Amino acid sequence: MTANSLQELYVEQLQDLYSAEQQIIKAFPKMIEAAQSDELRSALKEHLEVTRKQASRIETICQELGEDAQNEKCKGMEGVLKEGSDLLKEVSREVRDAAIIAAAQRVEHYEMAGYGTARTYATLLGFPDAASMLEQTLEEEKEADQTLSELAEELNVEALEAGENSEQESEQGSNRVKRSKKSVARGKRAA
Ligand code: FE
Ligand code: ZN
Ligand code: FE
Repeated sequence: MTANSLQELYVEQLQDLYSAEQQIIKAFPKMIEAAQSDELRSALKEHLEVTRKQASRIETICQELGEDAQNEKCKGMEGVLKEGSDLLKEVSREVRDAAIIAAAQRVEHYEMAGYGTARTYATLLGFPDAASMLEQTLEEEKEADQTLSELAEELNVEALEAGENSEQESEQGSNRVKRSKKSVARGKRAA
């Protein structure tokens, strides 16, 4: 579409976000199924429920503008999700949860960018109710990202240790020696 005004650009951004949310709703179940950690699985499930509400918020906002929410294809989210699903095909069990977190955090950050913009447009255009709905979604995306970061603290370490164990078998622990030297150096720097 051609957008000649900020309001038209705003509608275009809303439609793009709507498409992004719809794609996430389709893609998340596969990620949930692939997740091994119960905590990761339930965090993703919870965010999938939140995502459905986010999509209906955009429907409400578009309805009030007399616009159809369904008018765009978010190619960015399509690419982000495709990369994620390709990644999951390439990784072994040991690092699968870490890879799911990596993919999901890219999704959340991409959404955060879009909702920040849309919220700002809504405020500028004099739609305070829409602005607060978009702000609420933005906060939910940030929360999801934060939860994933917290889960990563544990699950990335598990992936690291799983990797070390298999390296040790093949290289008789040479990597562990290197790494422990590094952490000694790090400790000195921090002191
Ligand atoms: Fe979302
Ligand atoms: Zn997009
Ligand atoms: Fe999200």
